[in-house]
Amino acid sequence: ASIFAAVEMAPRDPILGLNEAFNADTRAEKVNLGVGVYYDDNGKIPLLGAVRAAEKTRLEAMPPRGYQPIEGAATYNTAVQNLLLGKDSQLIANGQVVTIEALGGTGALKVGADYLKRLQPGATVYISDPSWENHRALFESAGFPVETYPYYDAATRGVNFEGMKAKLNSLPAGSIIILHACCHNPTGADLSDAQWNDVVDACRSRGLIPFLDMAYQGFADGIEADAVAVRAFSASGLQFFVSSSFSKSFSLYGERVGALSIITAAKEESARVLSQVKRVIRTNYSNPPIHGGAVVAAVLNSPELRQQWEDELAGMRDRIRDMRTSLVEQLKAAGVAQDFSFVIKQRGMFSYTGLTAAQVEQLKTDFGIYAVSTGRICLAALNTKNIGYVAKAIAAVVK
Ligand code: PMP
Repeated sequence: ASIFAAVEMAPRDPILGLNEAFNADTRAEKVNLGVGVYYDDNGKIPLLGAVRAAEKTRLEAMPPRGYQPIEGAATYNTAVQNLLLGKDSQLIANGQVVTIEALGGTGALKVGADYLKRLQPGATVYISDPSWENHRALFESAGFPVETYPYYDAATRGVNFEGMKAKLNSLPAGSIIILHACCHNPTGADLSDAQWNDVVDACRSRGLIPFLDMAYQGFADGIEADAVAVRAFSASGLQFFVSSSFSKSFSLYGERVGALSIITAAKEESARVLSQVKRVIRTNYSNPPIHGGAVVAAVLNSPELRQQWEDELAGMRDRIRDMRTSLVEQLKAAGVAQDFSFVIKQRGMFSYTGLTAAQVEQLKTDFGIYAVSTGRICLAALNTKNIGYVAKAIAAVVK
């Protein structure tokens, strides 16, 4: 018999499964609000002008394709540190920040998870309830038990911060806490600056290991403003982990550009930590691909391209905000009595709309509008052409 004879079919990824169903739908007016991808007003994934310029220069230079260092390019890693911690960061100057180039935010989380399993093998990992599905799967596959801390409060459509704080303050030392640095996926509900300080205090007093996931820097209020959580931890004197993703902010999804940064207590500690993280990488993919990181580094390290990128990022951010406001207005205009104004307060690409699984199902069958069964929709998939249709459809299913 085949060695695969007894292999079972793994369950389909719920969101990618949604894409397959969407692609198979023949209705012209269909809309996919399921995926976490930014589309422009024409429904296309943009190629940013700053990226185009950096790629053109790279293509013309035709650089050789040798191996990168295990940790990736120094120009890239330094640029990532500056983005997260600010270019005047004392931690960077002190050599307290270890950064490695990773294969997207997912790759950064995976390298971090594998390294943490060696550092803290008996720990439990805590993720927000709810969280990005892959958080649980990633840390479980690294060998950790994964539990949750209270996060979303359906009644206020905000954060159940008292519940979250109480939970953090009850955890054993050495627990690993995964935190969404901004633009919480899937709820769109973020902590306030003051609440971040409380989280830092809880991590300090309980001896927790914070792991911040920064997948949407620049999508809430701006590059600097969205780093508030990272900055609160960097001012705390604690050690912590940060994963970065440039999939969304550079619209470079398929190039797999991310980074893992680890903040240590001292420069000599950084050298030891880096040496261990490099072992994790070496036995996994050896060293990262060149292109995506080279493009991001070229943009971040050129004042002109950096400015162009910031403007383009602001354009994406503003367009999503416009869609939030417009959806709320159009729902009202379509006669929906329920107050949807919370959609405007949520941040980033997503909204937990409060639509039930049955309503989401009806959106699909009656209108060809695809959303996650939890009621999560991606605002960045709305545009001036489809928003009226979507608003009317939502109005029909909530009435
Ligand atoms: N973390 C969160 C919270 C995300 O939403 C995503 C992307 N959907 C990632 C990490 C992974 O990003 P990447 O696509 O760069 O692997």
